[in-house]
Amino acid sequence: MNYNQYLQKLLFEANRQELLDISNRGQNLFTPKSIKYAGISPKSKTIYFKTGKYLQKIRLSEYRQISRLRGDYDEKLELAVNDEIKVYCSCPDFLYSGQQYMAWNLDYGIHKEMRPPDIRNPKLDGSICKHLYYLLNNIDTYIPKIAKDFYDSRVDRKIRKKKIKFNSVDPNLKF
Ligand SMILES: [Zn+2]
Repeated sequence: MNYNQYLQKLLFEANRQELLDISNRGQNLFTPKSIKYAGISPKSKTIYFKTGKYLQKIRLSEYRQISRLRGDYDEKLELAVNDEIKVYCSCPDFLYSGQQYMAWNLDYGIHKEMRPPDIRNPKLDGSICKHLYYLLNNIDTYIPKIAKDFYDSRVDRKIRKKKIKFNSVDPNLKF
């Protein structure tokens, strides 16, 4: 990595703490009664949550690298949530106050948005909505459950691989 690449890495991409630090949506704006963990996509390393009718996604950009390290699933997940992440929320605030635009253009977004919030947030303040703020601030409480799902998905894959091997045995073979 040269200096420019390093600088770019600092300017673009974001980790959990950076997103929390530049957020202007405090936790006091939100009572997390209805926030529910809704599972993972083991392939894209994305964690899903539901809050009422809104969907939140947190993608762990470095999980693939981190999963090769030694350690248990909880420890690896802890590292991954504090490393580079990408986020999305389907609430109106995330879209209309320009968070989705900033996220996409600063490389912490999951879904593309190219329309700048010229009227509602011309100075591009903030980073994430109250739902994501709450989640990133309290992600530790969800780690055991999420880690178990990553573990289970890995076990499932091993079983599938074994099945494929078994199925690929020549059916004409006589035992
Ligand atoms: Zn939201």
